[in-house]
Amino acid sequence: MEHIWAPWRMEFIRMGKPKGCIFCEKPEGKEDELNYILYRGKKNFVLLNSFPYNPGHLMVAPYRHVSNLEDLTDEELWELFDIVRRSTKALRRTFNPAGFNIGINIGKSAGAGIADHVHTHIVPRWEGDINFMPVISNTRVLPEALTATYEKLKGEI
Ligand SMILES: [Zn+2]
Repeated sequence: MEHIWAPWRMEFIRMGKPKGCIFCEKPEGKEDELNYILYRGKKNFVLLNSFPYNPGHLMVAPYRHVSNLEDLTDEELWELFDIVRRSTKALRRTFNPAGFNIGINIGKSAGAGIADHVHTHIVPRWEGDINFMPVISNTRVLPEALTATYEKLKGEI
């Protein structure tokens, strides 16, 4: 995925590690729209990546703070993949991507930004990945662009 042009990722890298765990903290709050939480299942939830590789970059995570796939219960795992499937459908309907990268980075050496809380990335892909997400000063995704993506996908999963 390194070759995707996503300069706002630099800000994420520069910011350093967040202190808490966003996958624990965000669903604890009630501000789903502010936190870009798109869908809440029984065991897992979906949120927009604020530092996306591509528009519509989603993350699916269990509510439980576990590091590894093998720590998930059958119920959590089943629902996780069901939600991945539903999210993929929603993205296809909404953004008509040419394909997807769906992946889980486990452990820091595998590239996990937040290594302690297992999460699945869903990145829609387009031919050549022409980037149509507006950026400010080459580093930040316009919050409006994220909000627009959120509004398009809300209720679709
Ligand atoms: Zn966590």
